[in-house]
This record gives sequence, structure tokens and C-alpha cells, in this order.
Amino acid sequence: AQRVLEALARYDHPVRVPVELDAHRYDVIIGPDVISRAGALIAPVLPQKRAVVITDEHVAALHLPRLAASLDATGVAVTTHVVPPGEDSKSLARYGALVDAIVSEGIERHTTVIGFGGGVVGDLAGFVAATALRGVPFIQIPTTLLSQVDSSVGGKTGVNALGGKNLIGAFYQPRMVLADTSALATLPPRERLAGYAEIVKAGLIDGQAFFSWCEANGAAVLSGDPEAQIEAVRRACAFKAAVVQADEHEQAAEGGRALLNLGHSFGHALEAWFGYDGRLLHGEAVSIGLHLATAFSVSLGICPPHVLARLDSHLRDNGMPAGLDWLPLQLSADWLVAAMGRDKKMRDGRLALVLIQDIGDCFTTRDISMDQVRTFLRTEGC
Ligand code: NAD
Ligand code: MG
Repeated sequence: AQRVLEALARYDHPVRVPVELDAHRYDVIIGPDVISRAGALIAPVLPQKRAVVITDEHVAALHLPRLAASLDATGVAVTTHVVPPGEDSKSLARYGALVDAIVSEGIERHTTVIGFGGGVVGDLAGFVAATALRGVPFIQIPTTLLSQVDSSVGGKTGVNALGGKNLIGAFYQPRMVLADTSALATLPPRERLAGYAEIVKAGLIDGQAFFSWCEANGAAVLSGDPEAQIEAVRRACAFKAAVVQADEHEQAAEGGRALLNLGHSFGHALEAWFGYDGRLLHGEAVSIGLHLATAFSVSLGICPPHVLARLDSHLRDNGMPAGLDWLPLQLSADWLVAAMGRDKKMRDGRLALVLIQDIGDCFTTRDISMDQVRTFLRTEGC
């Protein structure tokens, strides 16, 4: 009965996490079934009762009727554009087709673009919003755990180029983010785990309180407990908002937004190996990458081994990959190091790595040589 009462209270009072940037402020609104109330929730930030919804086929089939009904009930005129699911939709071709389509529909500077889906749709729709007519209002309605805890907050938008992921894009902040935790119920379990990896990353960077919360509540988040999911999204968004507020455009010389790349230099190289074909999800790569970044820090003598043991057991206890042994094939250390060397965060030929000294104590460095990374990867089974 207590749980039902809590759920009802949440329904009436969704959680709000403010994001306060120099030139914009917006709220992340988190709660059950906020999609069904989207019309009323976004009305205050719509400059015109007109919107374009960009979504993918999976999300359209499962959740679009609720959103469409809610927008319709508040008198918002909507056109909808549905792209195929998957990373391939984050392309210049898809982006160009969408801009042409919405411009030919006669959108105006005050027409809002709504990105309704996972990180693929959010990044794509955000870049459309950032650039169509030199920028129209943008709202994110993230529907995957990964997009609710990570990609929908912070304003990075973009598409992939031949030379790599996310190479074309813009910083463009939404006017509101609606994170509907009920939508997570239809998410395939593998996608839920992948999103959870970014929560663990946030916990490792943020500190003991958040990481311990993960240890106590991770299983509940993954099994679909509504209160645990709301709290996970709230904590992750509050953490990300604080980091982005301090360093919106990733310019800080030390720390700042670059810390969010913990586990990602290794993870991106793993993703590149698999060619983004769905065999290895971003979050799975991040999960392995968190293990690798921590194990590398231990091997450098800057992190006590018990931090690695604690991370690995949390990952493994929840069915997440905690090492290269999880992958079905043997990887080449030379290849991975070369891939890390193509990262867009390289500067003057130096790798940018995030290392960890303790939970809540991460830092960025350019003092690591490719040889050190290669030697370490061999000890990890490459
Ligand atoms: P995704 O958007 O591809 O979604 C994963 C799958 O889940 C897709 O098949 C999608 O159709 C489906 N799906 C979405 N919502 C669903 C729901 N509620 N129920 C059932 N199925 C659903 O992947 P993602 O993991 O959300 O996002 C990955 C993308 O995000 C990558 O392109 C990555 O580069 C980007 N990203 C961006 C940022 C940023 O700061 N902008 C941060 C992290 C990741
Ligand atoms: Mg990530």
C-alpha cells in the first residue's frame, strides 16, 4: 500500500531537476507516465502551439499514441517523422532529409522540435533543431535509460561522419527534458543494462554516496522498480547538470565535462572494433571501459585494488561486463591503441584519459603514452 501511495504521489508531483546554464535554464522532469501529460508539462515553454515530433519506429509503435493524444488534448498541432531504429539513423543523409521535410512543411522559427526516443533520436533531432532555420526550440523526451540518465541532458547534439561517431554537431540546449520512467518498462533488458553503465560511471565520478546508492539499489533499478528508477534518473541528471553547469562547452583545462569520459576512451575503441553493428552496445562498451580505466589506474599504482574489486563485483553482480573476457573474440591491443589515437579528444598527438584514484576522485591526464596503454591491454587479455 505504501508503494502504491508513493507511486500516486510521484504521478501528481514528478521530480524536477533544474539545469542552470549561463544563457539558458531548463528543467528535467522525471516521473511515471509523464508522456501522457506531456502537453500540459511542455505548454509553458512552447512559443507556438506547433511542434514536429522526431522518433523511431520502435518508440512510435510503443509510445507515440500516448504522446500524440496528450499534445492533441492541449491543442498543439503536430507533424511526426519516424526514422528507422539504430545508429545508422544518426547520419548526414537522414539529417538532411529531415530538415528538408520539416522546412517544406513550412515550420517557423517558433515551431518546436521534439526528440522522442533514445540517444540516437535525441542527438539527431537536437541537431535538426539546432540548425533548421538557424535554430528552433527543442524538447527532449528520452525513452531509453541511457538517454534519460545521460544523453538528453547537456546539449550535445549531432550525427556521425564517415570518419567517426559524433563528428558533426552542435551544443544546443533543450527547453525541457521529460523523462518518463514508465517508458522504460518496454526497453529490452540488454538496453537497460547498457543505460545502467552510465549511472555506475556517474557514481564513480561523483563519489561514495552515489556509488553506494548504486550498490544498494542497482538491482532494483534493473528489475524495473519505479521508485528506484526515478531516483536513479534524478541522481544521474543532477550529477550531469552540475558537471555541465561548471563546463558547458567542455573547455575546462582540468576535470570538468571531460571527466564524463571515464571509461569512454577504452569504450569507444571497443565500439569501433565492432563497427557499431549492435553486437556491442555503447553502455556495454562503457561497462568494460570502466573496468579497464580502473584496472589501468591500479596498474599505474595510483588507485587501490579494492576500488577495482568493488567496481567489478558491482558490475558482475548485476550481469554487466567487467572485462575483455566478456567479449566473444580476441582483440588486438595494437588495433585498440590505434583506435584510441583517432579519438576526437586527442590534442597535439596526446591521448586524453580519465583515470581514477578513488571513488569520487577522477582526473584527466595527457601524460600517458600509447605504449603504456598497449602494455596494460596485453595484461588484460588482448
Ligand atoms: P538508441 O536510441 O539506439 O535506442 C536503443 C534501442 O531502444 C533502439 O532500438 C530504440 O528504438 C529502442 N527504444 C527506445 N526507447 C524504447 C522504449 N521505451 N521501449 C523499447 N524500445 C525502445 O540508443 P541509446 O542507447 O538510447 O542512445 C545511444 C546514442 O546516444 C548513441 O548514438 C550515442 O552516441 C548517443 N549519446 C549521446 C550523448 C550526448 O551527450 N548527446 C551521450 C551518450 C550517448
Ligand atoms: Mg556515454
